Amino acid sequence: MLFTQKSAVLATVLATALLIANPVPLVAHEDHGIEKITLAGTAINAAAETVTAAAPGTTASPTVETADAKSALADGRNDLLQPQTARGIVFEDSDGNGKYNVGEPGLAGVKVSNGEDIVKTDDEGRYELRVDNDAIVFVIKPRGYMTPVNQNRLPQFYYIHKPAGSPPDFKFAGVAPTGPLPESIDFPLARRDEPDKFRALIFGDTQPRNIAEVEYMAHDVLPQVIDHDAHGASFGVTLGDIVFDDLNVMEPHNQAIAMVGIPWYNVIGNHDINYDAQDDQHSDETFERVFGPSYYSFDHGPTHFMVLDDVTWVGATGDQKGHYFGGFGERQMRFIRNDLAMIPKDQLVVLLMHIPLTDVQDRQELYRLIEQRPAAVSLSAHTHYMEHRFIDEKDGWQGPEKHHHIINVTVCGSWWRGQKNERGIPHATMSDGGPNGYSIMEFDGADYSLEFRAASRPAEYQMNIYAPETVKPSDVASTVVLANVFAGSDQTTCEMRIGLDGIWSKMEQARVPDPAYVEETIRESMLENRDWGNLPKPHSTPHIWRGMMPIPTELGTHVIEVRATRLDGKSHINRRLIRVEE
Ligand SMILES: [Zn+2]
Repeated sequence: MLFTQKSAVLATVLATALLIANPVPLVAHEDHGIEKITLAGTAINAAAETVTAAAPGTTASPTVETADAKSALADGRNDLLQPQTARGIVFEDSDGNGKYNVGEPGLAGVKVSNGEDIVKTDDEGRYELRVDNDAIVFVIKPRGYMTPVNQNRLPQFYYIHKPAGSPPDFKFAGVAPTGPLPESIDFPLARRDEPDKFRALIFGDTQPRNIAEVEYMAHDVLPQVIDHDAHGASFGVTLGDIVFDDLNVMEPHNQAIAMVGIPWYNVIGNHDINYDAQDDQHSDETFERVFGPSYYSFDHGPTHFMVLDDVTWVGATGDQKGHYFGGFGERQMRFIRNDLAMIPKDQLVVLLMHIPLTDVQDRQELYRLIEQRPAAVSLSAHTHYMEHRFIDEKDGWQGPEKHHHIINVTVCGSWWRGQKNERGIPHATMSDGGPNGYSIMEFDGADYSLEFRAASRPAEYQMNIYAPETVKPSDVASTVVLANVFAGSDQTTCEMRIGLDGIWSKMEQARVPDPAYVEETIRESMLENRDWGNLPKPHSTPHIWRGMMPIPTELGTHVIEVRATRLDGKSHINRRLIRVEE
């Protein structure tokens, strides 16, 4: 970036700071794996063969209908569209072919859901669940097992039952008609080792509006992730706004993400929905086709992850345009309640959502469900700035400890806006002055920690330090040093010193905008022939610290060191040079 850090703006902001006191698809097969020669069983097996060869992005649902079902649909008779019972088996896929074969062991006690009820498989691995004609049945991945993934490394843990398919007139395709309920909906699982300690990659809004922006991510962020072997992560998650309104970009986006080489879970965001939907229930048809249910849960190691859909869509009516708000809705809340009821109280629960929890209308209901748990953390994105919120009684939280909610850095930064660098990629600096990037989360029992990574920068790049280039000896006493610690929070301690053997002095948190970002927004707003949109307005960030230069400081060039230490004792040190001369 082209910050001079000498301008009048910078001086003003520093002065202000001084004044502030402070593909293996799921398949259907004959019931019980016994060779029953029935018309339905044969038809469904044939469908399963078709599905195996399905093109990327198509639904992994059997599409062959029985003669009965076809005529029922054709007649408009509804009997096959009434609530029915889905049955199947969760089994250990010993031969890895994705299909249940006689002799493969059924897995007992595995949870399966219809998006509301959750049942556990019996001793033989079998389950039954009621489904209506717009249902997704999914397995809740247990510890020590993995579901298949498709060619884009998207976990295949669900079966979509939409006999009539998604509304056919949507701009972006939803789910094709899935035909009648298969006799058996089976979930293959592969056994594997999942130690207590593991990592996950956390991507905030990736949000490409087109292929060019998929390529920004592909060149700005993904190479370093691939170079570092996905930072040792077992899986990744994108926290919504996977794309930016054009849902056809999901496929090339997913192909790029798949290059990271690990399973990738996805949260739905407000830019990932079908805007032509009349109601919330039909706003995620394309998401479902590509990713599966918009909310679900899974275990990894000893940790329980809940992927939540907190985007509630209100369809257009008359001259009122369609719009969204932050909300879970009653049906999802029943799923959350049922899911949490089966999780031991001491187990760490990680809630993943798009819109920050404090902006979700029915959050109090969720608070009641998690506030007595000793270990729960939640993550979102959506705001395009990084922040740690500690939710307390001021927001109606009644738990003994504050709830830690992390608003993650976004991969697209400020929606890929800003002047392009020498590689043709926008700087995309976020409104808190932080660079675009991602997080690496480490989990270990009930503990977790988060590491920030800036795009195309070394791991050590954790803050920007602001100070004048040169000060006069007489001005040293009034010289302010600011440090924007990108992933800092109220629990971070910041200290500075001059020289490598100086004495550390504590810095104070200062809620000010990032001075270099303020300068850049002004500079770019005055550029002519600009082919990118305005940067978002500077945001007063809670992760800036302020300190005064210690005196006396001898003439000459000095190193300012800033050390940011997290609550868990881990610290980062970054440096900046300053010259003292007459
Ligand atoms: Zn969003």
